[in-house]
Amino acid sequence: MMPTSGSKYRWRLGELEIVRVLEFEAALFEPAVLYPDVTPEIIERHRSWLVPTLINPASGLMVFAFHSTVIKTPHATILVDTCSGNDKERPHKPRYHRKNWPYLANLAAAGFAPEDIDYVLCTHLHADHVGWNTRLLDGRWVPTFPNARYLFAQQEWEHWQRAELRASYTTDPYYDDSLLPIMESGQAQVVANDYAFDDSLGIQPGPGHTPGHVCVIARSPRASVILSGDIMHTALQCAEPQLNSCFCVDAEAARTTRQRFLEAFADSPVMVIPGHFPTPTAGWIRSHERSFRFHFDRLR
Ligand SMILES: [Zn+2]
Repeated sequence: MMPTSGSKYRWRLGELEIVRVLEFEAALFEPAVLYPDVTPEIIERHRSWLVPTLINPASGLMVFAFHSTVIKTPHATILVDTCSGNDKERPHKPRYHRKNWPYLANLAAAGFAPEDIDYVLCTHLHADHVGWNTRLLDGRWVPTFPNARYLFAQQEWEHWQRAELRASYTTDPYYDDSLLPIMESGQAQVVANDYAFDDSLGIQPGPGHTPGHVCVIARSPRASVILSGDIMHTALQCAEPQLNSCFCVDAEAARTTRQRFLEAFADSPVMVIPGHFPTPTAGWIRSHERSFRFHFDRLR
């Protein structure tokens, strides 16, 4: 796995500033493993635009990015999704196991110290979205962002409280090292899945991938941005919205949410920043024949 040199990416939206902070980016997944229902014909149909950016031509693996998105408003600084983290014991997921990513250096390069973050918000509570909630300090897991309130959507929080549901996802101890310490620190706040910070920033439900999965929407009079979390893992799911990932908890709800999301934002000026699309990550959904395509923002 190679961290890319492009560690940050920045947009301005009226009074809001939006910055992507990369943890790592790598070709990771066989299409047929990631999407159990994909066929060789589907991959062939889209190969011309999937290779080389979205599917690595040498390995045939789909490229994933893991990043946080920082939204700075005139009133607060919000960090959305906290990637996989460092020093975590993840024996069942080697891509996250005992890592030493330069994430905090990338955050600093983007202009933020951990103390600057007022709110942390996870679109959902899978291991690759909660890792930097904590860091290892003198043998203890402590909140990485000492001044932040950590917001968790209620439905999502309640789902993962149940040990048997966690066990069906992984037996790696991500709950104990990345969620429980936040609750015990008193910095956690459970919120409704339509919580709003103010008129310009809030969350909205996008259930299916996980039951309480939320998107984050930032609005300004001239342009809006939505952070879509894991409603889609790769741009292939814009073209083939029926494809669920092997990580989706509720297959039917995941398909319905994805289809509605694509219809709602197709050909609209709303920029979409998905949870794992590779650099440049952000873009727009466009209608294409009877389906959709993702038009990536240009690198600048
Ligand atoms: Zn994810």
